[in-house]
Amino acid sequence: MDAKKSTWSLRILDFLEEAGQPYDDDCLAGALGATRRQTINAACNRLADQGKLVRQQALCPRCGRIKLHNFLPEWVDKLPSRPQETQVMPPRPPKLSPRWVEKRKAALREIEFIYQCSLNELEIQAARYGINVPIAISNEIDFLKKKLAEVRRELRELEQM
Ligand SMILES: [Zn+2]
Repeated sequence: MDAKKSTWSLRILDFLEEAGQPYDDDCLAGALGATRRQTINAACNRLADQGKLVRQQALCPRCGRIKLHNFLPEWVDKLPSRPQETQVMPPRPPKLSPRWVEKRKAALREIEFIYQCSLNELEIQAARYGINVPIAISNEIDFLKKKLAEVRRELRELEQM
């Protein structure tokens, strides 16, 4: 590994440790002042290969998009692994600041709204098809219902804190 590459890797790890929360590549590039997102993307992929980062989908509280986020392994290690199930929702870091909880709740309410809107839309489509409803639509409905249940469960947990 050349010096330039390892410098980015170290900066990324230091930054995440300091930030205490996962970042997607774009927001990470912005925060680190990298001019090319690809530099950060490549460095994060390398770190993930080395087991120094875990990359998982999450909703970004900064740019508001669902993207791959970089987690430090200690944020996810403590959770039981369920390899058969792909997790769209990120596991929460063990140390939760009140500010993080508020941001997460706002993000979850937004996800809940988006999932619910999609579900309403699909249920209308399914009703129009009646018995001939395409499998893709019914699968998507099942998926959204499952995701909504996950979002609501996490929201309930956070509201009890
Ligand atoms: Zn972002």
